[in-house]
Amino acid sequence: MTSFFGRSKTPRPNKRSPTPTGSLSRENSMTEGSSGPGGGTGVSTGEGGASKPLYLCSPFADAALVSGNFKTIVTLPKYTDIMEWVAVNIFDFYTNLNEFYGAITECCTQSSCPTMSAGPSLNYMWTTPERKQISLSAPTYIDSVMSSVQNLLDDENVFPTRSGQEFNSQTFPVTIKHIYRQFLRIFAHIYHAHFETILHLRAEPHFNSLFAHFLAFGKEYQLLEERDIKGEAGVPVGVGLLWERWKESGKLEH
Ligand SMILES: [Zn+2]
Repeated sequence: MTSFFGRSKTPRPNKRSPTPTGSLSRENSMTEGSSGPGGGTGVSTGEGGASKPLYLCSPFADAALVSGNFKTIVTLPKYTDIMEWVAVNIFDFYTNLNEFYGAITECCTQSSCPTMSAGPSLNYMWTTPERKQISLSAPTYIDSVMSSVQNLLDDENVFPTRSGQEFNSQTFPVTIKHIYRQFLRIFAHIYHAHFETILHLRAEPHFNSLFAHFLAFGKEYQLLEERDIKGEAGVPVGVGLLWERWKESGKLEH
């Protein structure tokens, strides 16, 4: 019997797929007030003073495909094994995140993003197998995460897809938490460094929905540490404020 959810081995999605728009020029900035064809997205972040990141500004911060609370879509379906449910969702988050990153990849280069930034004073470090902390460019960091997650997804010992094979209840939760933390970092980088591109693609309702779903799922199954979302004192994670905002507006549970 194959998986109830139809999860099967698929080739790694082409993360370097050409962008759907053809050009993702940064010159046509969304902050300049001139909107592209169709209009409606030209905004000002408020001249003068420390400007708020665009992803925290209305209407972008609240744009979503789903109205209401995300709890309903993360609840464990009846008669479903919790590890299978988590595995299926991880696979979906991976696929969707990969697709978004593929769409903005032209803007995330060694020179535009020499560090894995996620806030005004926050750059994530990569831990080597020797437990050394090193700084990587964002594209290298993200490639490394995506390749290692792809390898895990393809590993029958970690993500079993054949009948009779069980999830390892000791190691699976640890692996999933690790993947979750890395995915959070990728979201945080995209919001921090590439939200304008997301707006150019008019993908903010999709991207916000994906991230809200990711946060709600992480909360439901305790896959996320609050300090990873908010950051340390004085070194905030940019998306920590988005998370707070969504909790206040009822999109996410308090
Ligand atoms: Zn980048």
